[in-house]
Amino acid sequence: MPQKAKTADRQISIKPAINAAIVFAVFLLGGTIAFVFFEGGLQDRADEVQIIYKDLLDFRSTLTLVDQQLSVVHDRPEVMESIVENTKLLQFRSDSFQERADKVGMPELASWMKEQSPMLENMLGDIRRKNPDAAKSISLMILELDDVILRTAIDVRLATDKVNDAVMLFFFVVLAVLVLLILSAGWVIVNNYRQTVIPLNRLAEKLRTLNEELPESFHDTAEEVKRNIRSKEISSDVNQITDSIVRFCQNIEMKNKKLDELFIKDEKTNLYNYRHFKDHLIVDVARAKRYNEKVSIAMVDIDHFKAYNDANGHVAGDIVLERMARIIREECRESDIPARFGGEEFAILFPRTDSRKAVEIVDRLRQIIAAEPFYHEKALPGGQLTVSGGVATYPQDAVDWYSLINNADKALYSAKQTGRNRVIHFKQVEKGEEASSK
Ligand code: GH3
Ligand code: MG
Ligand code: MG
Repeated sequence: MPQKAKTADRQISIKPAINAAIVFAVFLLGGTIAFVFFEGGLQDRADEVQIIYKDLLDFRSTLTLVDQQLSVVHDRPEVMESIVENTKLLQFRSDSFQERADKVGMPELASWMKEQSPMLENMLGDIRRKNPDAAKSISLMILELDDVILRTAIDVRLATDKVNDAVMLFFFVVLAVLVLLILSAGWVIVNNYRQTVIPLNRLAEKLRTLNEELPESFHDTAEEVKRNIRSKEISSDVNQITDSIVRFCQNIEMKNKKLDELFIKDEKTNLYNYRHFKDHLIVDVARAKRYNEKVSIAMVDIDHFKAYNDANGHVAGDIVLERMARIIREECRESDIPARFGGEEFAILFPRTDSRKAVEIVDRLRQIIAAEPFYHEKALPGGQLTVSGGVATYPQDAVDWYSLINNADKALYSAKQTGRNRVIHFKQVEKGEEASSK
């Protein structure tokens, strides 16, 4: 089982590759949209911190101005008015700083500004009262503010760095996904070439030769196609095509076998037909001649079959024919050729068999048929369905295959003449002829 799973992993189909590409593309698109929002947020914060930084510098300038005004011309009423206005402005701005610092996540700045509100309130009182402590408070505030500005400058830097880092990370991820995509595509292309294109070419080549010359054996061809083209390293698509071709070859092989059978068999009795019998007889007589062997044949004919047909109909006659044919097939040896000669007449070829053995087989056959119960056979003359047989043997009874059939037929005729349900060998016919001529 694990072997199977491994095989499936190795087989590349274009479908999963397309699915993977779609997943990659969706991932890339989703990632880009998410990044745009995320980077936008970071950039907004960096901008806001930058503005706060500039405003702090502005805040410091105003504070410094108030400080200078206090130290130089605080006894002039219009300057006093300006100092008060500026201090009020500072107060207002410190409140707005708190809010903005909280919003962008600068808690230190927010709390420092919060502390400055009462300080500025006191300072305003001191200024109005012309208390010299006001100038001291401002100097102290400037000192602390410088520290706050410095830290805000660092915050500005950090916020900008964060934006840059995010952009870098994004481009790195995009690059990595692209590299992964290119590698996957390359892998799919190489595997597709190795597992699909090359085997398909091989298959096409095989089909071309199949087309040019039809093979002797489709079974062997199917096996060859399977051996050469079907493998674990080949894509499932090509394997499916190969399987179809193999099945196609196997079907042709099966149909060819059926055609071969039809060509040599008699349809009604399933015995060999006369053509097949004759072809074998010619070859066997020629071989017997060359190697000094014997070959016997028998002609077997059903007795009074016309009467049986007339009494019981041709359908019942056909059943008898089929049953007798089955008995003949069963009683013959593997090497014998039992055939339907025509009508209700059978011919059996016994290669390398002498007359004694052939007569023995045919007579056993005759006895079995006589003993076999057939439908409505009692009405026949003799009360049973029987067969008569005539046997002839090469070379003693004939000079060729043709005269062998004729002489076996003569022996059969003699069996009919002498009472039926018997087997006669041609040499007995010859003896009878000799006796009657004497
Ligand atoms: P004999 O003992 O002299 O051989 O007598 P017979 O009646 O068998 O001989 P005959 O040649 O007069 O008749 C042969 C009969 O065989 C005639 C025919 O109806 C029947 N027959 C031949 N072929 C078939 C067949 O395929 N099916 C059936 N049912 N009958 C057949
Ligand atoms: Mg007959
Ligand atoms: Mg006949």
